[in-house]
Amino acid sequence: MTDRYAVIGHPVAHSKSPLIHAAFAEQTRQQLVYERLEAPLDDFIGTVAQFLAMGGAGCNVTVPFKEEAFRFANELTERAELAGAVNTLWLDDEGVVGDNTDGAGLVCDLLRHTTLADKRILLLGAGGASRGVILPLLDEEPASLLVANRSADKAEALAAHFREFGEVRGSGLDGIGKGEFDIVINATSASLAGAELTLPDSLWRPELLVYDMMYGKTETAFLQQAARHGVTQRLDGLGMLVEQAAEAFFVWRGVRPETGPVLEALRAAL
Ligand code: NDP
Repeated sequence: MTDRYAVIGHPVAHSKSPLIHAAFAEQTRQQLVYERLEAPLDDFIGTVAQFLAMGGAGCNVTVPFKEEAFRFANELTERAELAGAVNTLWLDDEGVVGDNTDGAGLVCDLLRHTTLADKRILLLGAGGASRGVILPLLDEEPASLLVANRSADKAEALAAHFREFGEVRGSGLDGIGKGEFDIVINATSASLAGAELTLPDSLWRPELLVYDMMYGKTETAFLQQAARHGVTQRLDGLGMLVEQAAEAFFVWRGVRPETGPVLEALRAAL
């Protein structure tokens, strides 16, 4: 029988997940279909419950329902529990299991380009995306992780939440100037609005690696800002998108697809 999967969001028409999972399925010869489901803003639970009741094997969850999916799951993986958000659901004998593969996706993509152990990492932003990647980043044992956010209190609270897992601190954007970093990850939504971030000049060094979780046909505002300051190693979040999907595919199917060719095809089609 062909298993059914879906991505549920609002809006969801733009989602690349059906393309990515179809490519994974073809590559690994798995029998499955993967569709888009737009849930009404006030009825995520009804949409996902109906999908699973009608034989859906699992689904991905995207904006703005990741926190609702977290509350909907009967059982959570440790990384989902700590992230406070779920992007991958599936049914097992006990009920609905919730996982969060975003952080694993980011780490996997970063590891294609660099190492993380002993690196000094700056994570900009303290929203859902930032929260989801802190544990997987700390698992790589960086020398330090500073979470810096426009609203300092949110970054400080996030850092406190993860303190037992590694060397992590929180601050406002004004706390950045005191440190020196090897990797800077933009997990703010500023690039969505095409806005640059107010960052100290002392941050920029040519040997930095900068990563923007956002992606697009052209470089994001943050990556353009880094380029102007002479940073040559600049990566966007398309790789993270493909890797988080591969992690979800692995969780569901027990097979790990090869991501390189899928990422290449997606990039060419942007
Ligand atoms: P949230 O709305 O939860 O958080 C937004 C964060 O951005 C907050 O920390 C906010 O600061 C900060 N922010 C927004 N505008 C500015 C600005 N002009 N200057 C400084 N800080 C700003 O968003 P998410 O965490 O869900 O998403 C963040 C980004 O990550 C998005 O671009 C999203 O597309 C991307 N993403 C990419 C994924 C991928 O697979 N590639 C997966 C998940 C997310 P404050 O708290 O002060 O308001």
